[in-house]
Amino acid sequence: MSQQIPFLDLKTQYRALQTAINQRIQNVLEHGQFILGPEVEECEQKLAEFVKAKYAITCASGSDALMMALMALDLQQGDEIITTPFSFIATAEIPVLLGITPVFVDIEPGTFNIDPNKIEKAITPKTKAIIPVSLYGQPAEMDEINNLANKYNLFVIEDAAQSFGASYKERMSCNLSHIGCTSFFPAKPLGCYGDGGAIFTNDAKTALKLKEIRVHGQESRYFHTRLGINGRLDTLQCAILIPKLERFPWELEQRERIAQKYNKSFLHLESRLQLPKVIHDRTSAWAQYTIFVEERESLIQHLSRRSIPHSVHYPLPIHQQPAYKRWNNGPFPISERASKHVVSLPMYPDLNEENQDRVVEAVLEFFEN
Ligand SMILES: *Cc1c(COP(=O)(O)O)cnc(C)c1O
Repeated sequence: MSQQIPFLDLKTQYRALQTAINQRIQNVLEHGQFILGPEVEECEQKLAEFVKAKYAITCASGSDALMMALMALDLQQGDEIITTPFSFIATAEIPVLLGITPVFVDIEPGTFNIDPNKIEKAITPKTKAIIPVSLYGQPAEMDEINNLANKYNLFVIEDAAQSFGASYKERMSCNLSHIGCTSFFPAKPLGCYGDGGAIFTNDAKTALKLKEIRVHGQESRYFHTRLGINGRLDTLQCAILIPKLERFPWELEQRERIAQKYNKSFLHLESRLQLPKVIHDRTSAWAQYTIFVEERESLIQHLSRRSIPHSVHYPLPIHQQPAYKRWNNGPFPISERASKHVVSLPMYPDLNEENQDRVVEAVLEFFEN
């Protein structure tokens, strides 16, 4: 019996980096600066360098990144933001928590990202920002979105929780608009060992505001000029991210290689499944390798019988979630159809060739029988 393939394997990655990570953790334990210690700044410098942004501000999660971004742009109760209903819930949850109304706009069927052609109609005098999500690792159509934003004087916050490491017209995701937000949740392309996130900007004023918001809106010790949160990322997590970031370019190549292999293996099935569509002017960080299949439920059953792990991102669009009834400005037929037909296959840099082959064989077996 061969071993069960995990949907995500972080142990192999840890073993590859064990010496460096253990040493980094040990250093933190010894210097004892667990909050905003020296590794935080070191990590932020390296993150900023990676996406070629002027500033990176680490924070406690991708969700906090979105919250701090909205707070730094002074969005308030009653304001509206435009976003996609086909995303992880946090994209809409965070605006709602701040009393901001999410106005949803449907996606493109190929990339599953927000359809820029549908945004303009959703703009009202209350609209303050657009929050495109770079879903599954592929940047949204950022130039068109930025142009619209300029025309109507709106901010653009890229929800790049899944796309750290991706590029768009030679520029890096997280650095494609006023503010980019990412997540270091362990399952994201660059993950830490717990919750974490970061915010990127090229604007010095925004960066300063974000740093204050991260510590309860504190301008100087115990002097608070704005509302903030406790949004810091632990020094330990930054210490872990530093060696992980060094391996990350190799990991991106590995993900690309696996995606190409899947694409090549499934190309002849294109009448029955839609392969992930990456637009020619961008790259994906391959947070997920997600196909669109009419017969998804029977494919899923088949994969389960073959012990091939799989997952659905996402089975119910946000506007149809029970808690979001009040903000349902749907229907959104493309998102709704996607939620019924997408399925993600195992995709991570340490997925070995034998297991890649097992995934491919199981999918082929389903379609060829
Ligand atoms: C994961 C994710 C988030 C939230 O990140 P956390 O670190 O889990 O808070 C937000 N948006 C998208 C699109 C995500 O995938």
